[in-house]
Formats: sequence, structure tokens, C-alpha cells
Amino acid sequence: MTPHFFRVDDNHTGNESCYPWGQQYFGTLETQVGEPACPQCGGRERTHYAGTLYIHLEGGREWSDVIGVGGSAIRFLISERVLTGLHDAGIDSFEYYQVEIAEVRSRPLRRVPPPPYYYIWPTGRIDIDPVRTEFKLKVLGTCDQCGRLLFEPFPKTLYPSRYMPDHLTPKLDTWDGTHLLKFRNYESQVRLCTERVLRLAREQRWTNSCFEPVDISRRDSIGWRGIDYLGPQWPPKWYPDPASFGKTPDEWREELRSDDTARQYAAFKAFRELGEQGVAQLGRLLDDGQSRVRIDAARILIQLAKEGVEVSEALLERSSTMEPAP
Ligand SMILES: [Zn+2]
Repeated sequence: MTPHFFRVDDNHTGNESCYPWGQQYFGTLETQVGEPACPQCGGRERTHYAGTLYIHLEGGREWSDVIGVGGSAIRFLISERVLTGLHDAGIDSFEYYQVEIAEVRSRPLRRVPPPPYYYIWPTGRIDIDPVRTEFKLKVLGTCDQCGRLLFEPFPKTLYPSRYMPDHLTPKLDTWDGTHLLKFRNYESQVRLCTERVLRLAREQRWTNSCFEPVDISRRDSIGWRGIDYLGPQWPPKWYPDPASFGKTPDEWREELRSDDTARQYAAFKAFRELGEQGVAQLGRLLDDGQSRVRIDAARILIQLAKEGVEVSEALLERSSTMEPAP
């Protein structure tokens, strides 16, 4: 099935050496737009920027259409070519501001003047579906003033990413019809777009862009390079294969025992995704001759149990006594 909405970003996993990366940015204070807080729930949209931003770039050998920027407020820049393409296609649900490139820390790039770059802030909106998204924090309700979802208090002792939902599901009937958008009722730095933007990226051969279905499982997307929007096949493969695709649980058990770290990592992901179906094989690995394998299997079992997968008391007890390698 074709997804309706995509997460749009720079392709930070690919071409690391080929395209630059924005490392620092600064603007003047008046360029930060603070949204007024909701009088009812106190929620507010995170500050975004307006006006000129100054960015330091590192690395790369050629200028790309999209440049990733560290720090979640900016996310990425677009080239003038992309800006014009969007406008010509009638896509205008975003604010945009020119960026000054204050410093280029790459010798090959210093020889080529950069095209103008822009920071964009999507103004289109859609609600996130609080039921189908399966939030890990309890949803207490909706603010009747601003419509934001209200969550139970955030447990301060635990790392925030533990509370990230596995996938984000937009609520189709709340879509305002725009093609570049953000969530309305849920604070996140995710930039969304529709297939129209993705097709434009394909037609105009935008470089260094990344698109993923927004409802993709985070587990499946680890290590995936996004939809192959420039490839010969259309429609492209919209979703990656599940992590365990192509091998039986017994075969994954052998992969985890492999000396090759890439194969071990693939097996790690496969067992996380297999859940209950892999518990027996992991249990057998607790008796493996290599301590590294025993510890890995124990870690996965403990992780699975935390995620609600049924792991027997006996296996969990053995897993928790596995000593880390000296
Ligand atoms: Zn509110």
C-alpha cells in the first residue's frame, strides 16, 4: 500500500564524504520566534527561527540540494533549486529564510561558490492519531483550548527516547490538504510531506534527501536508507523488509554467533523484531561456548521482556546473572 505521508529529512546515513553537513548555527535573538503558550495547558510550539541564520559547514566535496544540520530545530537546509521547484509546483505551506554560510570547513567546497540555501518551517498541519500511534506514555486527553494531546508526567529518571512511540500514525481526516506539514496536536521535530513532494524530488533529481513513510516502525528503519526515490523502479519499495526477513530463527542464531560484527548486528535486529518467535533460540545461546554470544543473547532477552514479550522466569533469571566480558 502506498503511504500517505512521509518523513522528510537529509540523507545523513549515506554519502557522508560526498556532501557537507551543517555543524553550528547562530542567529540574532530577534530571529527566534517564540510561540505564545496555550493559556489552558501551557503547551507551546518549540521556538523556531526567522530571518538570517549563520551556519558552519563541514566536509563534503560537492554542494547538495539538501544539507543536514545538527540540532533538532533546523534539521536541514534546501537549495534554491528545491525552493523554486516547490513554488513552481504550487507547494507553499512553509515559511523560508535565507541562510548565510558563515564558514566552509572543506577544501574542495571552498573552491565552488554555494547556491543560496534556505531554512524552511512547514506551516501545514495534521493531527497524530493517539490510538493507532501507541504512545508509551498514557494519553490523558486533549486540551480543549488548543487541541494538544495531554500526556501523563514524563518519568524524569528514564531516558526520553525510551518513550518515543515505535511509529507515528497521522489521522487522515484532520489533514489540511497541504503538502509540507507538521503535527498539530503533538510536539515533534518531524517534517512531513506527501507523495507529491517525493515525486518532485524524483523528477528534479534532488540530491541528499531522505524520505520514509511516517508510520514506519522504528525497528525496521534502523540502518535503512529510506525510499529509493531516485532509482529506476517506480513505484519504489515503500517499506523496508522486516529485520528478520530471509532467514529462519535457527539461521539467525548462527548469525549471532558469527565473528562478523555486521552479521551480529543484523541478527540483533532480527531477534528484536522476531520477539516471541526467537526466544527459544536465544535461550539456547545462553549455553554457548563464547561469552560474547551468551551476553548478547541475555541482553536481547532482557530487552524483549521489557518490551512485553513473554520470556520465562527461568530464562530471565539466567540472563540477569550473565557477567559482562572482562
Ligand atoms: Zn492547550
